[in-house]
Amino acid sequence: MDIRNADRNGFFGEYGGSFVPEALEKELKVIADKYEELRKDEKFIAELDELNRTYTGRPSPVYHAERLSMAAGGAEIFLKREDLNHTGAHKINHALGEVLLAKHLGKKKVIAETGAGQHGVALATAAALLGLKCDIYMGEIDVRKEAPNVLRMKILGARVISVTDGTRTLKDAVDAAFKAYLNDPVNQIYCIGSVVGPHPFPSMVRDFQSIVGREAREQFLSSEGKLPDAVVACVGGGSNAMGIFSGFLDDESVKLYGVEPAGRGLETPYHAASITKGKKGILHGFKCYFLQDEDGQPLPVYSIASGLDYPGVGPQHCLLHDVGRVSYETANDREAVEAFYALSRLEGIIPALESSHAVAYAVKLASILGKGKNILVNLSGRGDKDIDFVTSNYPISEYEGAYGKTGYEDFLSQISGS
Ligand SMILES: *Cc1c(COP(=O)(O)O)cnc(C)c1O
Repeated sequence: MDIRNADRNGFFGEYGGSFVPEALEKELKVIADKYEELRKDEKFIAELDELNRTYTGRPSPVYHAERLSMAAGGAEIFLKREDLNHTGAHKINHALGEVLLAKHLGKKKVIAETGAGQHGVALATAAALLGLKCDIYMGEIDVRKEAPNVLRMKILGARVISVTDGTRTLKDAVDAAFKAYLNDPVNQIYCIGSVVGPHPFPSMVRDFQSIVGREAREQFLSSEGKLPDAVVACVGGGSNAMGIFSGFLDDESVKLYGVEPAGRGLETPYHAASITKGKKGILHGFKCYFLQDEDGQPLPVYSIASGLDYPGVGPQHCLLHDVGRVSYETANDREAVEAFYALSRLEGIIPALESSHAVAYAVKLASILGKGKNILVNLSGRGDKDIDFVTSNYPISEYEGAYGKTGYEDFLSQISGS
């Protein structure tokens, strides 16, 4: 079983593929063929490399979070700083790739869904840079929750369409964007924001994100002289996780952990842990584990992190779960907020709530693995977009002083006394 690459029809084992209306089939084939050609085209590769370097600011550093590691009390924690990219998250990596591809396909407009607004901002940025029109579909709830990102997209010249169907979050935005795409698949291209959707998107987005894993592996080897013992990333659709995992899939000694959002608890309906609690089925044109009701309809999902709020998950993750190459764990809202404050206070880095899930699990894993081991976390984005929401729902006053209720209390009194 090839855990690295999809077969010709876009299947990772039994997952993935392309389950779309006939009208889209032809267009997706055109996209897949063009991508197949471009990914081996030295000019395209050089063009993208140049943008990654001079526009995004790659390579992003790998940083040894010593004070966080001390707080965790076990293994050393390192952060791959995707939060330092232009636009503040890993999503610019695939947005640039997708818009460059759109340009090579002669498209006039890129369209997409967005949850936290990060993919929308990244795509609007890439569209502005490369001179294409851009329509972004966003659930009404997220439009309100992520107001600064909505403004950013508009300033960048994109149209933001507020989606009022269903739960008015990410899943409904995907449906609306899909519908709009069907209306004119020739002049527009749907730039999916994660390693989900029909073939070739899961493979293509993964390839554009794999730069994260390639860089991180090299950086870690050169600074530490060995590979990390574990790599941890949060999993919404799964793009930042696939990006960093793909650098380490062949390294048997490196354990890989994907962290899904447990929201208000796995025993409640308020989570988005698609692999942990989902069943197999077809969602948004591909086969994966997804959270569904008895009739196979996607369930409303929830996470404090809008970007993790998706009922399904990328097909390669489903296979990696089944074969046991990656362990899928969870972190809940409260743990994510604690990690958000802890990383801010201990390291001066305000993480995105999405990335805070990975940090929260890494802190737990550090004490499980113990001293002498190393954990590399993909810090997928910065938290500037979340500060209003966090501070109004989880007041700073509750996290002040001895960091009461954060679980880092003992440690902090120790280091402040030392
Ligand atoms: C969108 C987003 C995620 C979740 O998406 P994946 O495709 O699972 O990576 C994670 N972190 C940040 C900062 C995001 O913006």
